[in-house]
Amino acid sequence: GVLFDVDGVLLRGGSVLPAAQRALRKLVDKDNHFLLPVVFLTNAGSCQRHHKARQLSHLLEVQVTPEQVVLSHSPLQMMTGFHQKCVLVSGQGPVTDIAKSLGFQKVVTMEQLSEQHPLLDMVDHNRKARVQSSPQSLPRIEAIILFGEPIRWETNLQLLLDVLLTDGSPAAAYHLQSPLQLPVLACNMDLVWMADAPSPRFGHGMFLLCLESIYKKLAGRELEYAALLGKPSLLTYQYAEHQLRLQNHNHTLSTIYTVGDNLMTDIYGANLYNRYLARQHAMTTSTKAVAQGIGSLVKTEAEQLVSSAAQCRSILVCTGVYKPHPPLPHHDRSSTIAEAMSCGHRDQVLEPELVEPHHVVEDVEAAVDLLLQENSVTFQP
Ligand SMILES: [Mg+2]
Repeated sequence: GVLFDVDGVLLRGGSVLPAAQRALRKLVDKDNHFLLPVVFLTNAGSCQRHHKARQLSHLLEVQVTPEQVVLSHSPLQMMTGFHQKCVLVSGQGPVTDIAKSLGFQKVVTMEQLSEQHPLLDMVDHNRKARVQSSPQSLPRIEAIILFGEPIRWETNLQLLLDVLLTDGSPAAAYHLQSPLQLPVLACNMDLVWMADAPSPRFGHGMFLLCLESIYKKLAGRELEYAALLGKPSLLTYQYAEHQLRLQNHNHTLSTIYTVGDNLMTDIYGANLYNRYLARQHAMTTSTKAVAQGIGSLVKTEAEQLVSSAAQCRSILVCTGVYKPHPPLPHHDRSSTIAEAMSCGHRDQVLEPELVEPHHVVEDVEAAVDLLLQENSVTFQP
């Protein structure tokens, strides 16, 4: 099976990389059906799976189904323990629809919260005079879902802090001594991502960095996450493997290839998953290993995704975030790794070994050639 990252591998901004169409043509039959299980694994999350599938089908000129798309928030579908809680959602795009499609029943948006509590959002001087009476009172917030980078950072940072420091009732004054923190589920830790501009752009990880540091400054302790989702989290790879296996008529996959452009996201995640698979195969009580890795996983749900692949191989392409600095003597290589690790999330364990790809190739076509060549004995189109 193959897990393709999207931005920087298949697309750059809104346009298709020429190598992407050539690469995918090698993976489909004459009827445009994929010859092997393929999942598009992206940390994007401001849309629903069927929208992404339609966009990819159109741009890549192959038939991509919603089941072949894993977005950063897709594994939330498995976290049923949160589905009945009243959740505050942050991000852009149709966040309420996304939350509902994942199974969340009681959803409050930042706009609703701001309308309900007009005295909280005071940064924009042009907006702070507009005090309105609130139509109805909102229930207490029981959990926070951070889908992706919002548009008005100052509003979201302020309101998120208010909700966190009042235990879900932002009309109240802060009670900083509270020993408990509301559960925070965050999707997409990418600090930066590659669009059309010559240098990388702010990603959701940059927003999380702001939130973590403001929270620490005011609360005097670290912000804790109930779960971190999207690459490189283990739960995301378990979920993606589950999707690959469904395409494989529930048969076990021997090798999963991952193709990506970001060392701290795609390569780190694939290598972490590969390490997890190796440990799992070495252990008799496989599900006990589920909690390894970054982020705290909700065990009961993760156990539904018991993985079975023998290995996960990471392929790095040079068409996105990663830029090789040729020629590459040893000390330069380590500085590239140090540079990449500085872009990781606070909760990522910094191990140089996890950001070493199994292969580095020019583009996604070279990646597909490589995996087809490696599997020429077992896989015949
Ligand atoms: Mg990418």
